[in-house]
Amino acid sequence: MSKFWSPLVKSLVPYVPGEQPKMANLVKLNTNENPFGPSPKVIEAIQSELNDSLRLYPDPEGESLRQTIAGYHNVKPEQVFLGNGSDEVLAHIFYALFQHGQPVLFPDVTYSFYPVYCGLYNIEGKTVPLTDSFEINPEDYKQPNGGIIFPNPNAPTGRYLGLEHVEAILQANFERVVVVDEAYIDFGGESSIKLVDQYPNLLVCQTLSKARSLAGLRVGFAIGHPDLIDALNRVKDSFNSYPLDRLAQAGAKAAYEDEAWFQKSCNGVISERERVTEALEGLSFEVLPSKANFVFARHKEKSGDSLSKALREQGIIVRHFNKPRISEFLRITIGTPVQNDALITGLKTL
Ligand code: PMP
Repeated sequence: MSKFWSPLVKSLVPYVPGEQPKMANLVKLNTNENPFGPSPKVIEAIQSELNDSLRLYPDPEGESLRQTIAGYHNVKPEQVFLGNGSDEVLAHIFYALFQHGQPVLFPDVTYSFYPVYCGLYNIEGKTVPLTDSFEINPEDYKQPNGGIIFPNPNAPTGRYLGLEHVEAILQANFERVVVVDEAYIDFGGESSIKLVDQYPNLLVCQTLSKARSLAGLRVGFAIGHPDLIDALNRVKDSFNSYPLDRLAQAGAKAAYEDEAWFQKSCNGVISERERVTEALEGLSFEVLPSKANFVFARHKEKSGDSLSKALREQGIIVRHFNKPRISEFLRITIGTPVQNDALITGLKTL
């Protein structure tokens, strides 16, 4: 920190992303990437964009991709907002759609970027405790607020909230925007997108980083009432008019044109998740029911910290959070069958 830093930056507490180690041969189960990789059609589409057109700016509106996503989800293109990963979409949401001056509500155990955005924009964040079984209770969201955000399934717990409960939160908060962050929805949950035409206060955020295995391409989007999308576009055009480059737009579009790959990938993750869950339970872990591409598990005797360090020594990386309520847990991304076998074998030796 030096005299050149602005006072605003001096007070920032940034997000700490999961480790991206450089060494090969590690069993990397720490950042919820999809081990099955993107559709070959995505690679082809990106390769066909590698030409002289790169001298031109991309379409600032991402019209063609928005049409594809809108068609896929049965909404209108003007209900779709694109961003450079859903992290960027979320940043714009905090700025554009939450009533600054009143607390934004989110669960006490949740995605740790939310408090960071509160800090960035000087918004008050108020945590709402999950129940003892780490579930969101809609009743707890009946209190004055400047907006509400929660992931569904929640991260890092993996617990899913049924749509009737999402609706209960929406109905209790007609005057506020409710954001459902669906980064992990495709691994067994039901999307709230089907509710957007009924609830003008609902915004659903999704990403291509997980089920479509494109974390490196950085594409996310929000779907909601066109009025909410207009607000997000105002912020986008005051920040970066071209969040998605030509390669990202082409690759993302192709990802939606290979439904068979998408289904196979999701089903592969789901069946491995069930297998890993059973194996962990057999090894004295309590595993929270997950509808995500990871499981959240605690050992009945051994500490989360010691287990994550011991696995690391075997070249297996999982995520451990040194935070209240969850320090005994490991968040384990579902990998390929071979990676998952390595995890199970590794744990058996500890
Ligand atoms: N929301 C949640 C709940 C997440 O876990 C993540 C991934 N870390 C994101 C959003 C952001 O995903 P991305 O920026 O890759 O779209």
